[in-house]
Amino acid sequence: MSIARKLYQLQEIELEIESKEQALAQCLSRLGKSRVVAQLRAKQAKEQQHLEELRRQQHSAEWEIEDLGTKLAAAKETLYSGRIRSPKELASLQHEVEGLEVRRDQLEERALETMEQVELAMDNLTAISNELGASESEWRSQQQRLSAEIEQFKDLLSELESKRQQMLAGIDSQTIDFYNQLKKQKGWAVAKVEQGTCRGCRISLSTAELQRARGEQLVECNSCRRILFLD
Ligand SMILES: [Zn+2]
Repeated sequence: MSIARKLYQLQEIELEIESKEQALAQCLSRLGKSRVVAQLRAKQAKEQQHLEELRRQQHSAEWEIEDLGTKLAAAKETLYSGRIRSPKELASLQHEVEGLEVRRDQLEERALETMEQVELAMDNLTAISNELGASESEWRSQQQRLSAEIEQFKDLLSELESKRQQMLAGIDSQTIDFYNQLKKQKGWAVAKVEQGTCRGCRISLSTAELQRARGEQLVECNSCRRILFLD
């Protein structure tokens, strides 16, 4: 096998390693994170807090209504007991009873509104929890798929790396140094020749260059200085 072919094959392997490493890094970056799940969890916590606040309001309204009921019953009992005879006092008590009744009606209305809000919040919470459950299960299976993909990439990369090491062992170190230097300068070092043209710079090669590239020695492109490989 010509040295140019060996280097070309080495380059092919190295490019494949690079692309698989990028794919692996992308998989790794997607592992263990779910923005959707985190957002839904925050939404659920907020709705839960809202519901608890509404329930507190509901209970305090209920207690107040009960308290008013007791006061009202006592006032009415006094009013109709016949113990109070002064018309002025009776009128004032009558007024107090009416005031308490108005207040109770207002509170009952408010309690009813709060109850409706509690029901709405519970419905919202159920909807969010269902959505969260679905997202979590989707996320879990996605994570499993990712973990499997990551394992495959790792296996493949270790295979490719051992192939690369085998190839490196078959090329002398001076040539490897030259290859690496070119790679560093240009991104990739070996250019295939296709239809008499260097694929590195797309410039047509002279007959003499093509002739030399067919030989066993390493030949560089006159324009881009890459190593020419003629299949
Ligand atoms: Zn070239």
